[in-house]
Amino acid sequence: MAASAAQFKVVVVGGGPAGSAAARTLAAAGVAVCLIDKSEFPRDKLCGGLLTLRSRKTFQQVFQADWSPVIQHHSRGAEFYYQRQKLNSLTDYKDIFFTCRREFDAHLLGLAESCGAKLLLGRQVQAVDTAHSRLTLSDGQTIGYDLLIGADGVNSAVAKAVFGSSFSKERIGFGFELEVPISRVIPLIPDPEIYFGVLDWGYGWVFPKRHTLTAGVGGLLRASPKMRAEFEAFLKSRFGAIPPGQIKGHFIPFGDFRQVPGQGNVLLCGDAAGLVEPITGEGIAFAMLSGFYAAESAREAILTGREKSALALYQKRYAEIADTFRQANRLRRMLFPKLGQRLLAKALPKSKSLVRRQMDLMADELSYPEFGRYLLAKGITGPIKAMLGRT
Ligand SMILES: Cc1cc2nc3c(=O)[nH]c(=O)nc-3n(C[C@H](O)[C@H](O)[C@H](O)COP(=O)(O)OP(=O)(O)OC[C@H]3O[C@@H](n4cnc5c(N)ncnc54)[C@H](O)[C@@H]3O)c2cc1C
Repeated sequence: MAASAAQFKVVVVGGGPAGSAAARTLAAAGVAVCLIDKSEFPRDKLCGGLLTLRSRKTFQQVFQADWSPVIQHHSRGAEFYYQRQKLNSLTDYKDIFFTCRREFDAHLLGLAESCGAKLLLGRQVQAVDTAHSRLTLSDGQTIGYDLLIGADGVNSAVAKAVFGSSFSKERIGFGFELEVPISRVIPLIPDPEIYFGVLDWGYGWVFPKRHTLTAGVGGLLRASPKMRAEFEAFLKSRFGAIPPGQIKGHFIPFGDFRQVPGQGNVLLCGDAAGLVEPITGEGIAFAMLSGFYAAESAREAILTGREKSALALYQKRYAEIADTFRQANRLRRMLFPKLGQRLLAKALPKSKSLVRRQMDLMADELSYPEFGRYLLAKGITGPIKAMLGRT
């Protein structure tokens, strides 16, 4: 027999950075909000855990709290490689932080709960009835909503209910990772390492954590159908052999974002809206920002008694993220094909300023058009554009 129905002004599906940002924002504004996640927390989430200055700015804006308890490593530089050849490095430039998502996401969810969000954990959303604004959970309970925020990640059940599929198989990205324990033979590194030339339309990384190094590769799946083999080759070349441990993989909506982030009274944010940055693969900052924007739009619509206006209000705020992603997507078409990577590999060793501009971009202190103009001035994108027959 089905359990009794409950009704909320806003229901958020997903307790990752996007869902916690949305639930925290609504609860702090006094809106009755319920967040549902299929997992009990803390739970694992495959992720490099790199947090940029953009992430810190967004976290502070949305959560108004301290994130230091869940930061495992802090660095101020980076090393760049083309395959095994070191191209350039930078020390003492811009802050970069590293977290473990198990701890980070539990911290954010706790901040949402402490503001008054009701949490339903360990309960999967099994059906979304958009016609009747109602969800059915794994235990048979039904929950009604005035507004629904889908923050349930790349395999979003909410996006599937609205659009028929969670993502495009043609355009989706994928990533593999391995947690490598630090030891006498594999010491801690002070700064992250970024590897070009290990994948088509993607890159590799080694990120420092408290007790491990997170090694990974990620990129467009259709450009690298043998990504696991490429990851294993990368691990062998970086560590001498494949370190013990379980290699895990996960989809990444790498540059394939929704032009319209929802439908009717359903708003999508974070990976459910495809918001992973098309060049750097950064997703946490955009998840928190879009969750915040969705919640602000829901709050405004509820306040004026015009719930139906929530999506239009969200679309206005979302435009800022969509514009950034469109610009990044254009630049990616120049940088990621093999020729672009080879030109980068030529230009990087000669130029500290190129490394600095890349880090400025990640810190949200440089726009994509500014970065594009800089690359053109350096002569990096010009030959590619000429080859592609574009001006
Ligand atoms: C290999 C890899 C490395 C990455 N590295 C980085 C990095 O270093 N830095 C960075 O910024 N980004 C990185 N990303 C991207 C980043 O992980 C995502 O963009 C980010 O997690 C998106 O947050 P979210 O809240 O939208 O979704 P998620 O974090 O995926 O959260 C979704 C939540 O929804 C829940 N859920 C799903 N379905 C249901 C359901 N039916 N019912 C109830 N609950 C449900 C899940 O349990 C989960 O808790 C990486 C991604 C991958 C795959």
